[in-house]
Amino acid sequence: MPELPEVEVTRLGLAPHVEGFVVTDLVLRREGLRWPFPSQLKDKIVGQRLQKTGRRGKYLLLHFASGTVLIHLGMSGNLRVMPKGTPAQKHDHVDIVFGKQLIRLTDPRRFGAVLWHDAADGAIDEHLLLRNLGAEPLQDGFDAQLLFKKTRQRTAAIKQVLLAGDIVVGVGNIYASESLFQAGINPKTAAYRISLKRYQALALAIRQILAAAIVQGGSTLKDFVGADGKTGYFQQNYFVYDRAGEPCRVCQGIIRHIKQGQRSSFYCVNCQK
Ligand SMILES: [Zn+2]
Repeated sequence: MPELPEVEVTRLGLAPHVEGFVVTDLVLRREGLRWPFPSQLKDKIVGQRLQKTGRRGKYLLLHFASGTVLIHLGMSGNLRVMPKGTPAQKHDHVDIVFGKQLIRLTDPRRFGAVLWHDAADGAIDEHLLLRNLGAEPLQDGFDAQLLFKKTRQRTAAIKQVLLAGDIVVGVGNIYASESLFQAGINPKTAAYRISLKRYQALALAIRQILAAAIVQGGSTLKDFVGADGKTGYFQQNYFVYDRAGEPCRVCQGIIRHIKQGQRSSFYCVNCQK
């Protein structure tokens, strides 16, 4: 599943091909994905110049003077740049054409989304799907103070609080497991019991791990700029995630696997208290 780093790397890969360019056509090959495509989308963006790309959580944003296209990659989606005229395959659902190039949304499982937010309806941050999102982990406003302050009443386990996304976005299952390992925090610890000092370690770990994933993903940019590109997802060398029963890379203890709210958590009992 694409996580925040994949979406950010996708944005970085697309930006030079689309920012400042005029949309010359929009091709929708089905009625919708997770939700129906906006009925007037073609009228809204064809002939318009894409001013800037952005991202909020896992939503990729294409900003036009008249409004913003929101794209979500769902469980299996990817966006690639390719020459106009490249034949569409079975799971290629949307092309946004910019002259001789297009960006193509491929999504085999069809949980992705393409939505429109009209500028007349106010700031994009106020969109129903964006307004309750937590802080952006790589921007100012996300730090230990925020984690500490927002968790004083939260009795749920820290792992689940991170996944909830209302305090900080982008810390999905992989990154929550890895960040908690780096910070030395057991994923089962009740969020309200964690001290400010420990949250400092956690905030740092979240930033470092997400930033490293984006840097690493940047090296795969060539993979999704081109018709033969791969999915654009990338695998890191994890410390705990998906390593149940294997030795901890730090202490050689055995990595444990538990379920928390239907999701798998991985941790080391020696390194995480
Ligand atoms: Zn360990």
